[in-house]
Amino acid sequence: MLRSTKPNRCKHCKERMPEDKARHVLHDECKDAWIAAYRQKQERKKAQEARAKAKVERAETKRRKEAIKPRAKWLAECQAIVNKIVRLRDAHLGCCSCDRGPHWDGQWHASHLRSVGAASAVRFHLWNIHKGCSICNNHLSGNLAEYLPRIRARIGDEKVDWLYTQNQVVTHDIEYLKKFKRVMGKRLRRMEKRSS
Ligand SMILES: [Zn+2]
Ligand SMILES: [Zn+2]
Repeated sequence: MLRSTKPNRCKHCKERMPEDKARHVLHDECKDAWIAAYRQKQERKKAQEARAKAKVERAETKRRKEAIKPRAKWLAECQAIVNKIVRLRDAHLGCCSCDRGPHWDGQWHASHLRSVGAASAVRFHLWNIHKGCSICNNHLSGNLAEYLPRIRARIGDEKVDWLYTQNQVVTHDIEYLKKFKRVMGKRLRRMEKRSS
């Protein structure tokens, strides 16, 4: 078999080398440009690798943080999500315990009918939480004397009576709270999208 006698192509400009430098791989005048291009390529590759590494590190940091996040923090995050859902659900309604209407321009809270301390089993239950004004919630501890009859009228005796049967102590563990947060977070985002 005859070995090709054609001169090499220049790595930079891809033109064939002149006959007298047939086995060379770069024109002298192409060397600088080729080196510069090569270095640039290396830089891009390094930057890309650094970005990938940073991404892995961020994920790892997040995972470590989540792993040591105390249960109280998970509880608070879950409660915050549920409270937002309640305020969106009740956006068209006034306070659950007084006559302040939906257009009252103070701060709205989410008020538990049965307190978290008294009924841990329904601390996240949507029948048990309703939008209330900050005045009832902060200064009258929910104003239960008004809250109870008003919420009976709103959601019905059956649901309210059921809430009052929920007296078992429930300690939501972290695994439960993680899952709950994921599911309810999705629900909240859907509601926020619809209401915006
Ligand atoms: Zn060249
Ligand atoms: Zn109120």
